Amino acid sequence: MRRTRIVATIGPSSESDEVLKELAVAGVDVFRLSFAHGDIPSGIARLRRLRDLVPDRAIMVDIPGPKIRAGSFGTSPVSLTVGDEIELSEGFDESSSATHIVVERLHVLAQLSVGDLIHIGDGGVSLLVEKTGSKARARVTSGGSVQGKPGLSLPSSLLNDRLPTDDDRARLEALRSESFEILAVSFVRSAFDMVSVRTALSRDDVMMMAKIETGEGVENLDEIITVSDAIMVARGDLGVRMPIEEVPHLQKEIVRHGVRYARPVVVATQMLESMTHSQVPTRAEVTDVANAVLDGASAVMLSGETAIGDDPVAVVTTMDRIVRRAEEYFDYAGWGSDLGVQQVGAGTRSTRVTAAITGAAWRAAMEEQAVAIVACTRSGMTARAISRFRPPMPIVAITPSDATARQLHSSWGVQEIYVSPAQDIDELCEVAVTRLKQSGTAKSGDPVVIMAGSASGGAQVTDTVRMLIVP
Ligand code: PEP
Repeated sequence: MRRTRIVATIGPSSESDEVLKELAVAGVDVFRLSFAHGDIPSGIARLRRLRDLVPDRAIMVDIPGPKIRAGSFGTSPVSLTVGDEIELSEGFDESSSATHIVVERLHVLAQLSVGDLIHIGDGGVSLLVEKTGSKARARVTSGGSVQGKPGLSLPSSLLNDRLPTDDDRARLEALRSESFEILAVSFVRSAFDMVSVRTALSRDDVMMMAKIETGEGVENLDEIITVSDAIMVARGDLGVRMPIEEVPHLQKEIVRHGVRYARPVVVATQMLESMTHSQVPTRAEVTDVANAVLDGASAVMLSGETAIGDDPVAVVTTMDRIVRRAEEYFDYAGWGSDLGVQQVGAGTRSTRVTAAITGAAWRAAMEEQAVAIVACTRSGMTARAISRFRPPMPIVAITPSDATARQLHSSWGVQEIYVSPAQDIDELCEVAVTRLKQSGTAKSGDPVVIMAGSASGGAQVTDTVRMLIVP
């Protein structure tokens, strides 16, 4: 089985019942819905339909923060050519074209200065501002094609809003009673941003994923990781707001750092971009996906490729093949020993115990060549903590919670997930052995490592590791 997860963004090309089901079969582990497009009621309706169609996968809802979007260019690519003059105006529910771009935010054009650069989408197309005011004018300095409602990257001084923005607050309010597993938060710049969004959502059953896409986000990575449950390397905006040559190095650093802290880390954007309209990826894209796996990413993400692409299922199938091949090459033992026993949270006693127990479980499993590591986990933390070692054997999670079971679809290597109300360690071992035998993962005589909370240690802490020989 594949260990690195695939996240696919849902959009006009992929939101039919038929395609969504095909995407699940093709290997999507996490479905991402961007709340940057459309109004809140239609976003909630899409979310509910998705939940019904893929009840056992994780759903990631992405809130755009202060991201500014252009009015729609429509579903076919529109070419912007170097030297073209473009008029800019502010408004909503209006279309953009090759000569006129609608900026969906009020009071921003007047703040521009002549000479500012505006990047469209993930930075391929850029405009140089020549006239400011409510009807601004700009000239294309880097051409390309755009479609849909791309993001507009204005000079960073315009992005001073704190999180959550008023619009995000309204989205969070509407999302409060909905079923989803991960909230991806755009433009996180500090731990305070993340804590403020967590407080506004007020849900402890949703994983909070910080999108790292600004210089401040990179600078404050440590404190952001500490208060987040997962991280995304959002390379689109990151490559616009930081020198582009920094992106590969930041990717490696953010992945390694996040995984050390047992946070699932998603590498996102332009992974198989050319497949938006082509059946075959470029060699560079194939290498990029493979390198993300070798960097230790927990998941790789598809954006426009599955949201507006010609053949979303073919893209997922291609990504699945590339990832599986890269996983054959991954240095599992090397990764685990480099990691050592590290802190996995804010340094509380229970996170230190979890770090120590999962470290012991990893060593025992490696030394005895266990056929599986079983994490009995209420919140998913124990499974995420063992996952950070990238063990070569399957990680199996047993949890009493359906929500935790779905969230674990974002964790690297958690290959079997069982929901069971069992609490007592002996009972959990029995459940594990039965399931492992049923799935063919273990047979009589095989060693299996099991982690659980003992009754005396309190069920909230994983304080026990056992080596079990399957009877
Ligand atoms: C990114 O910028 O890389 C990203 C993932 O953000 P979004 O797709 O929401 O613009």
